[in-house]
Order: sequence, then structure tokens, then C-alpha cells
Amino acid sequence: MFSYRHAFHAGNHADVLKHLVLVQLLRYLAQKDTPFWVVDTHAGAGLYGLEGEWAAKRSEFADGIGRLWGRADAPPAVVDYLDEIRALNPEGRLRHYPGSPFIALRHLRERDRLRLFEMHPTESRVLAGNIGEAGREAQKRAIVDAGDGFAGLKALLPPPPRRALVLIDPSYEDKRDYARVLAALRDALSRFATGCYAIWYPLVQRPEPADLARRLRNQPGIRWLHATLSVRHPSADGLGLHGSGMFVVNPPWTLQASLRECLPWLLAALRQDDGAGFTLETDGEEPHGAGAAGP
Ligand code: SAM
Repeated sequence: MFSYRHAFHAGNHADVLKHLVLVQLLRYLAQKDTPFWVVDTHAGAGLYGLEGEWAAKRSEFADGIGRLWGRADAPPAVVDYLDEIRALNPEGRLRHYPGSPFIALRHLRERDRLRLFEMHPTESRVLAGNIGEAGREAQKRAIVDAGDGFAGLKALLPPPPRRALVLIDPSYEDKRDYARVLAALRDALSRFATGCYAIWYPLVQRPEPADLARRLRNQPGIRWLHATLSVRHPSADGLGLHGSGMFVVNPPWTLQASLRECLPWLLAALRQDDGAGFTLETDGEEPHGAGAAGP
């Protein structure tokens, strides 16, 4: 269960989609003065070195953030995302990549809070160390919990400020994660129906992703947005990630327009073959897309 290490994948095409959406959600929350919480149920290590042995081993970032770095023609939502990565690489060379905890931290104000769950003992130690080194403001705002994020989420909802973003981002190495995600969302909605929930999932050659997407879309009485981005045909051996999806419950009204504008640009920038494509759909609206993507 504990073999997954996000450092191998940091900055890949799936991180690009996930973190681009995350930035838009955070920016929207921070527009209002009232405080909010961010709950990251599967936080990872928080910061990744792209020159390190692990990232270099597969160089997944080269076909993700690596293709966007240095582009001067990006649409606004991509610029917002690139600003996060630039903040960590002020000298201009792409050496570091922020995970979701550090992307969230940059958007928190005095009274906002970040609750992080990371169950891998090494990853959670590294995460706690990274938060510790990020200074007093970060230490005051963020709490790292080395427990199970699905269980931890239950205890936190509804959050005191009644405004919150919950990122649910398991690795799905354990196939039971698909069912856990659905159960966690249902339980969370019963405790805190107005929260914003962002669920990431992989596009792989298995029935589970399409099944999860269908079940999420069929949740009764929710507002949702669903985006997928696929960069290539699935590989012949069925291994590897050819794309990913983000399902957002209670999305800000601005998100659809932002993604409509930037997904075609991202598709062109990240495509590896003619199996690439994107989809964008919301409850009650016709799906929009291009190419071959989709769960
Ligand atoms: N959210 C991170 C980001 O965007 O930078 C990446 C997270 S990575 C995809 C998934 C992480 O979840 C791994 O570090 C793994 O150790 C951790 N994990 C697996 N099962 C968990 C659980 N039940 N609760 C909390 N963390 C878990």
C-alpha cells in the first residue's frame, strides 16, 4: 500500500490539471474576506525537487510542467498556475515543484487554516519538516496529521468557518480508493453540503475510473463540474497514466469559463499523440470537448 511516492510524478500532466484547478478554487475562495479552511486528505510531501534522483528517474515533469515552463502565450488560468511554480523558482530555472499543501499555503490569509493528512510515514515526516521550515505563518496555519485522510475528513466537517475546500487526491494504487472516494464524498456532503470538493482521479485502462466518474455525476442534488485531460493513447501494456480527471462539487461559477479557455491550449501544449483530448461538462449542460479524452 505504501509504495506510491508522489516525487516520481510531481509536475506531470496530471499534476498540471489538478493544480491548475486547485489554484482557481483557492483564488475564488480568497476573494471574500471571510475565512476558509482547506482540507487536503492525501497531501504528499508538499515540496519536490525536480533535479532529484526520483523525479529524474522518470522525468514525468518534462512532459508536464516542463512543456509549459517558459511559455509566454498561456491563457490566464495557466498563468495563475505558472505563477505558483515561478514563486518557488525565483531564479527562473525549473528546479522545484510545489505539491497541493504549498499551493494552498500561498493563498491562506491570517485566519484561514490548512488541514493536511498524509498516511505514508516518511512522506508525512517530510511534509511536517517542510511546513516547519516554511516559517511561523505556515506553522500557525497548517496542521499535519499522519492519519487516514478519509477518516480525518469526517471529524472536520462542518468546519468552523463554514467555507472550505476539500481536495481528495488518493493515488488509487489501492483499488478500494475508488469506492472510498465516493463514500467520503457522500458522507462529507451529509455533514457539509455547501463545501467545495475537488476529486482527482486517473485515466487508466481499467473500468474503475469511468465507473467513479459516472457515480459522481449521478449523485443526486449536487452542482458539479467535470474536466478530463488525456495526453496520449493508453499504452499497449495498459500501464501508466494517459490522462486524468477532476470532478468538482459546488464549483465557483467562474471555473467553467476559465477551463473552457485553457483546456484547448493545454491540450495543444501537452499532447503526445492523436489519442490526446479533453472533456468539460457540468450538471445540466451539454458536454464540451476536443480529441479523444474521456473516462
Ligand atoms: N495531493 C498531493 C499533491 O497534489 O501534491 C499528492 C498526493 S499523492 C497523489 C497521494 C498521497 O496520499 C500519497 O503521498 C500517499 O502516501 C497518501 N495516502 C495514501 N492513502 C492515504 C490515506 N488513506 N490517507 C492519507 N494519505 C494517504
